[in-house]
Amino acid sequence: MIAAQAALGADAMSLESCADRALLEQCKHRAAESIQREAEQLAALSHDIWSQPELAYKEHRAHERLVGFFSCKQGWEVEPRYKLDTAFRARWQEAQPGASPLHVGFLCEYDALPGLGHACGHNLIAEVGVAAALGLKAALEDVTPSLGLKITVLGTPAEEEGGGKIDLLQAGAFDGMDVVFMAHPGQEDASYLPDVAIIDFCVKYYGKSCHAAAYPWEGVNALDAAVLAYNNVSTLRQQMKPTWRVHGVITNGGMKPNIIPSYSELEFSVRASSRKDLDKLQEKIKACFKAAADATGCRVEMSPLSHGYDNVLPNKSLAKSYVENGKRLGMQFTTDEVVLNMVSGSTDFGNVSFAVPGIHPYFYIGSDALNHTEAYTEAAGSKEAQFYTLRTAKALAMTALDVIFKPDLLQSVREDFKMMKLMDDGSSACDKIRESSGGAGSASR
Ligand SMILES: [Zn+2]
Ligand SMILES: [Zn+2]
Repeated sequence: MIAAQAALGADAMSLESCADRALLEQCKHRAAESIQREAEQLAALSHDIWSQPELAYKEHRAHERLVGFFSCKQGWEVEPRYKLDTAFRARWQEAQPGASPLHVGFLCEYDALPGLGHACGHNLIAEVGVAAALGLKAALEDVTPSLGLKITVLGTPAEEEGGGKIDLLQAGAFDGMDVVFMAHPGQEDASYLPDVAIIDFCVKYYGKSCHAAAYPWEGVNALDAAVLAYNNVSTLRQQMKPTWRVHGVITNGGMKPNIIPSYSELEFSVRASSRKDLDKLQEKIKACFKAAADATGCRVEMSPLSHGYDNVLPNKSLAKSYVENGKRLGMQFTTDEVVLNMVSGSTDFGNVSFAVPGIHPYFYIGSDALNHTEAYTEAAGSKEAQFYTLRTAKALAMTALDVIFKPDLLQSVREDFKMMKLMDDGSSACDKIRESSGGAGSASR
């Protein structure tokens, strides 16, 4: 039993007394120790997910494995297939919850990449989420009287494609959460990397087929429309902000050279550092697609391929606490300005970061391999990655304890969240964010 009287005094958990600080330190030790105790089981969990990679929304084995893992742990209420076929929820609540218990969330991803397996290391994301939640529970369950805490672990499928977190957000799975934590494998330790907003488009041109030599004037060439669309976008690049990205491919360009193609299809990804900028860029890109249809006489259809992902909002207060805890565990956070200012990938955690204050740091896994490569798949399944993965889980659990024990920190976390949302709705928000908090080239989607 650990006495929490001091922390629960009239000035609840202000950490003004030595006793409060000692209690917090004791809990951090317990969290780290308990994560270490589970190391073997956690490594086996992660390796099982890694060895049977499954694509977005089809992570059935990973789902079963994670649900089975929590079902064997005492005190967790587990809900398989929670709102999605391959999502789950595991919850733990202290026996005597307070009037409005603080609700902390941890997220697990576990989808893989086609042809590459776990080349983004999402097996390690699952492990970090599980480990941090187990550590936090172990730290708090013997604190008396109860602090009134609620822990939720959400299994969130389909990050690489589709956006499972967005489905879950829309279904209310994040309602009532106060703070949410996850961490993503990368090439370095960084508390925040500027993951950008993204929308994927499918563009279809409908023309008219005809003999390409005998009477070509009777045809309407849909491949010409696709080529023009591609070139229009390339021409637009001179007027694009350095933080904007557009990349696409022609997925259907006709059947035979002697038939004027009546149908063509392109897929494009459009990225920008804020939602507002993404709206602006989308309009310009759509104008490029439409102009190609007008010039060739084709009919055009443009439709989003899946949910749009928002940029990830930073939370300075959470990041500061995470860095302090990480450094105590030996993490060396990157200071490379090139990496810190690089435009990078996108994640469905972006949408979560607009709904709940949270943190999505990146962590080194003992390899210089780049995400989405075969070398990274190997690294994500290696023994070396385990030390770094568990260290990250410890830092997350310790950061959660800071939030729980320091009401001033929780207040700052909430204020940062509000401010960043306001800034993002304003102009050039993310450029300011990047300058102030430093991000690195990240490696998510
Ligand atoms: Zn990825
Ligand atoms: Zn990823």
